[in-house]
Amino acid sequence: MRLFKPLILGGAVLAAISCASSRPASEPAHGELSSLSAASRPDAAFCEHRVPQEACTRCNPGLIPRFKAANDWCGEHGVPESQCFQCHPDLSFEPLPTLAAEADLKQLSLQGEDVPELTPHAVPGKVTVFDFYADWCPPCRKVDAHMFVLLNQRQDVAYRKLNIVSWETPLAKRYLEGVPNLPHLVIYGKDGRPVRSVTGLDLAALDAAISEGAAR
Ligand SMILES: [Zn+2]
Ligand SMILES: [Zn+2]
Repeated sequence: MRLFKPLILGGAVLAAISCASSRPASEPAHGELSSLSAASRPDAAFCEHRVPQEACTRCNPGLIPRFKAANDWCGEHGVPESQCFQCHPDLSFEPLPTLAAEADLKQLSLQGEDVPELTPHAVPGKVTVFDFYADWCPPCRKVDAHMFVLLNQRQDVAYRKLNIVSWETPLAKRYLEGVPNLPHLVIYGKDGRPVRSVTGLDLAALDAAISEGAAR
């Protein structure tokens, strides 16, 4: 999966970022980023491959079938997609913080299915952060890590997640026209009205939008 949309030039589709090269047509060169490579504990040991030792398929070849079964395999580089630094230089493996029972997190779209409007899902009296993401987007996991900490600290922030799956789903087509890459966040204020959107990994801009939304 590509993080950036393909550029469409005169009908030709050119992948903006791709590490695919020649390969047999029968076997896809790239798979999906599953969570199989995430560390199970914050203090997990890392191996020489910069991967949590417990999940590394170069250290533990017996794990390879699990990754392939999950379609988490980079055929080009012979490692799981979720361990391939050549394809994804910004991989991170930190486990997400455990969410407190009061944390306000809901999944609005699981498989790219359409959500006709965001406004009815904005929570009155809270700042609502709508998160358009995909499992193949490493920076999106950094947004999760940031938001999970925030949700554990504040009861006036609601997090609503929308899995676009690909750029071709009904959800992506409705909301991501003109959006070049993920993550894409839409922040609503406590008054239930949009503050602004933040595209790409910019946690400072996200925090500023949340502060602005909380002041309404
Ligand atoms: Zn290793
Ligand atoms: Zn790769």
